[in-house]
Parts: sequence; structure tokens; C-alpha cells
Amino acid sequence: MAAHPKVLIVGGGIAGLTLGVALRRRDIEAEVVEIAPRWDILGVGISLTGPTPRALKSIGLIAQCVEVAFGFDRIVFADATGKPFGALNMPRLNGPDYPATVAIGRPALHRVLIGAAEAPGARIALGTTITALTQNDERVEVEFSDGRRASYDFVVGCDGIRSAVRDLALEQAPETNFTGLAVWRATMPRPPSVDCMQMLFGPRTKAGVNPHSRDEMFLFLVQPIVDDARLTPEQMYAVLHEQLLDFSGEVMEFVRAHITDPQQIDYRPMNAFLLPPPWHRGRVVVIGHAAHTTTPHLATGAGIAIEDAVVLAELMADGLPAAEMFGKFMARRYERCRLVVETAVKLGEMEKDTSIPIQAHFDLMGATFRKLAEPI
Ligand SMILES: Cc1cc2nc3c(=O)[nH]c(=O)nc-3n(C[C@H](O)[C@H](O)[C@H](O)COP(=O)(O)OP(=O)(O)OC[C@H]3O[C@@H](n4cnc5c(N)ncnc54)[C@H](O)[C@@H]3O)c2cc1C
Repeated sequence: MAAHPKVLIVGGGIAGLTLGVALRRRDIEAEVVEIAPRWDILGVGISLTGPTPRALKSIGLIAQCVEVAFGFDRIVFADATGKPFGALNMPRLNGPDYPATVAIGRPALHRVLIGAAEAPGARIALGTTITALTQNDERVEVEFSDGRRASYDFVVGCDGIRSAVRDLALEQAPETNFTGLAVWRATMPRPPSVDCMQMLFGPRTKAGVNPHSRDEMFLFLVQPIVDDARLTPEQMYAVLHEQLLDFSGEVMEFVRAHITDPQQIDYRPMNAFLLPPPWHRGRVVVIGHAAHTTTPHLATGAGIAIEDAVVLAELMADGLPAAEMFGKFMARRYERCRLVVETAVKLGEMEKDTSIPIQAHFDLMGATFRKLAEPI
């Protein structure tokens, strides 16, 4: 391999930008192409549970993220009236100075990642994708949508669930699985009483609030659905308000009063997907959602995408032959990602079966978080 390899990253989402940062930290040349013509990041928040801030810490980004996020150490569980009946206390994996979990606005996370990738010299081209890819033992030749051609040591597909890189370079991937669940999200101001994630178990759905900055929080609600039809903003508004009628108490009254605009609502039928190994062919590999798409039940989908990027950059810096490097990558990543995808889907299935005691959900979540706390 070249002394200073050159890597093309296809997709400027969480995986692609994190890889750009991690490669530049190791002095590896990195170029990102993102198909969207501008950064137009969905304005909702996501949770980054313990191992994810740990991965961000390894590339020097934890402090910047915590600064613009909201940190907490526990999840409170409550009934549909908001009366608490339990809590999951999460360990501080990053030492006493950092909270166990942070929730962060997606735009805020993107701003941190873009700045940290560009400052040390990662080039990012918006409105660009790849149209063809050929490779030999030494290089990957790439043609771009703007007519440009270039050659790289490695190409990494970080281009999401419908990955073009996966289609161009790997065997046909299995179909994604519709999970029969949808997730609702809506951003609103944070009342001071919401200082950690609160999860409420209702008769039909699970809902909750999650603070993701000093000033804002987001509602989440997981609903069993029969098909993955899209809804108009007006339908979303009506269906979400109807679902929220199951819940009462101070926090959920606040939520209802603050969902006033259909445009505030994000509604997503959920798919799950796990690409069988290997995720690479020759000098091309896919990571993040292009290799594994999970439901948010463990709040770890972005986490394992970030970890993929951190581990891949670390291995690329070792200068091993491609097959050996990617072999080590799969050995460190596949089982861990499988655990997250399969456990999240299982938690979703358990939610559909109201005869399963809630304690069984906690036990499975707790056991999985303990496993994920192991070093990567
Ligand atoms: C409702 C919901 C809630 C979630 N909540 C959480 C949470 O709380 N915590 C958590 O850890 N995770 C959460 N996740 C998961 C998390 O959002 C994903 O795991 C993460 O976004 C995956 O990042 P990615 O970069 O791999 O893929 P993506 O986010 O899909 O990014 C792919 C990027 O590639 C670009 N692209 C696509 N095709 C091309 C192409 N041909 N050429 C160039 N660029 C291309 C796209 O425009 C995009 O920018 C949630 C997901 C959903 C749906």
C-alpha cells in the first residue's frame, strides 16, 4: 500500500464524516463526495449512548459534542400517566468528566463533524456521486457524476441503506426488512424538569422525551403499523396527536401543547438490514447504514456507524495488505453490529406483544448495554 494512502469516502452522513475526521487525524488523505447539493440536516436529535462518546473521544471530538449536546446518566421509565416505576443507570464509560449518554441535535453533530473533517484538510464535494468504479490489486478507478475521474487506494461506501457503492462493488445485497414499526419525532423547547430521557409505556405505544440541548428536547413515539405508507404532514399531525391521547401528566401535556405545526413532525416507518459478511471486495468496503441499518431501540445505530469509521481508520493507518486489513475490520465489527441490529429488532417485536412484562425489555436492554461497554 502507498505510504500515504488516498481514500474516497462516498456519503457525507455520520459515518462518512466521522471517517473523514478519523483518517485525517492519522494523516491519511480523505475526500468525501455527498450526493445532496447542500447540507440540509433533519432538525431532530439523536442519543449517543456510552460507547459512542467513547469512540468520539478516541478521535478528539467528545468535548466539542458534549458542549452542544445535553448529557445525562439515566433513563427514567414511567407509566402512561408519567408516574415513574424504574430507572436504568448507565455507567460513565468516559470517566467522571463526561456523562454516560449525550443527546445531540443532528445539525449540531453535523456541524462538529464537518468542521473537524475540513480543518485538517479533508475535501468535501457536495452534489456529487460516483457513477462507475473499477479496481485492480493496487488501485480503484472512479468516475464521478461531474465527469471527473480519479484513482484511490481505497473507496469506502458510507452512502446509507440504498448504497450505490454496495451495488457497484459487492454481490447483490439482501432486501431490507420492514419491521412493522414507525418512529415519530418532534422537536420542542425543553422544560427544566426534563433533565434526562424519560420513557413512558402506554397501552398502544411507547413514547418519551429526550433533552438534546440546554434549550430543546425531542418527543419520540414508537407505533406498530401495518404498512410503510408515507403520510402527508397534515395526516402526521392528526395521527400523532391521536396517539398522544394515551398519555397524560405534566410532561406529555407540555408535549401536546408544543406540537402545533405539521412541519415539526418527523415520521419514519422503520427498516432493518444486516449485510452478510464480508462487507468488502478488493479495495472497496461499505460501513455504517450501508452495511447495517437498525431501529432506534438501543439508540446505537449512529454509534456503530461512528465506531466502524474509527476502527477502519485505525486499521488503514497500519498499512496492512487490503485483504488482511479488511479481515481484521470484519473480525472487530461484524458480531458487534449484528448484536445491535438483532437486539433492536427483537426489542421492537417485544413491544408489539403486550403480554411480555416490561422487566424483560429492561433486562435485554441492560444486558446489551453491558456487552456494548466492552472495548471495540
Ligand atoms: C427515526 C430514527 C432515529 C434514530 N435515532 C438514533 C439515536 O437516537 N441514536 C443513534 O445512535 N442512532 C439513531 N438512529 C440511527 C442513525 O440515524 C443512523 O445509524 C446514522 O444516521 C447512519 O449514518 P450513515 O452515515 O451510515 O448513513 P446515512 O445517515 O444514511 O448517511 C448517508 C449519506 O450518504 C449520502 N448518499 C446517499 N447516496 C449517495 C451516493 N450515491 N453518493 C454520495 N452520497 C450519497 C446521503 O445523502 C447521506 O448524507 C436513528 C435512525 C432513525 C431513522
